[in-house]
Amino acid sequence: MRYNAGMKKKNLVIANWKMNPETILEAKTIFNNSRKNTQNLRNADLVICPPDVFLLTLSKLQRPKNIFFGAQDIFYANKGAFTGETSASQVLDSGAKFVIIGHSERRALGESDEVVARKLQAAFDSGLTPILCIGERERDKEGRHLEFVRNQIKLALSPLRKKNLIGLIFAYEPVWAIGKSSREAMSPTDIHETVLFIKKTVGELAGRDVAQTIRVLYGGSVESENAKSIMEHGNVDGFLVGHASISDDFGRILRSI
Ligand code: PEP
Repeated sequence: MRYNAGMKKKNLVIANWKMNPETILEAKTIFNNSRKNTQNLRNADLVICPPDVFLLTLSKLQRPKNIFFGAQDIFYANKGAFTGETSASQVLDSGAKFVIIGHSERRALGESDEVVARKLQAAFDSGLTPILCIGERERDKEGRHLEFVRNQIKLALSPLRKKNLIGLIFAYEPVWAIGKSSREAMSPTDIHETVLFIKKTVGELAGRDVAQTIRVLYGGSVESENAKSIMEHGNVDGFLVGHASISDDFGRILRSI
């Protein structure tokens, strides 16, 4: 069952642990800290995306209703001779409800827009809720980066049925802003403009009714220093947080929502 499709929008924070930590013991500690930090989180849900190998153990631990689990990627086929890959049904069975699709770190390893579209479809077919990552590698004064983002959206969405697009979650992550410090993140004003552009693009491709239902999260060096101002002025429905999601700063980020 997909998350909240068609319901009133609630802010979402996605914690992308990337390939961290090294042991299940550390993973439990990070999870316990996140759990404490969500105690006063009223108007947002948290999706923790650990490495797949930790999913099953972590998802069996006690947690409040506003914490979910997600995978950082899936393969587009559901089973078979695909050494090293993990399918949507396997991560679902391990406790994931969400999956990050098309993260820039996967695209940098060669994932094409076509593969992103197939993985999105596989997520929908399985009942996982995908978080579609888009974002330009660099910005230019002529606005070519917007064309790049538009094209990413078009290639990912065009094979999908309209019903799948309702309530779709985008993570807008300018690649140049990922993995840095809050000082190098995108400004709330620029984020605001880009979010409008993403919604306009979805409106053109799928209709304004669909565009009104989507969520756009921001990702790229969100830390406690910039989280509040992006939340207030960036026109976003939450964040995708990378490095800060496994640090002590995460509690402060959650409190700013
Ligand atoms: C990410 O992993 O998508 C991300 C935004 O990372 P960071 O917060 O470290 O920039």
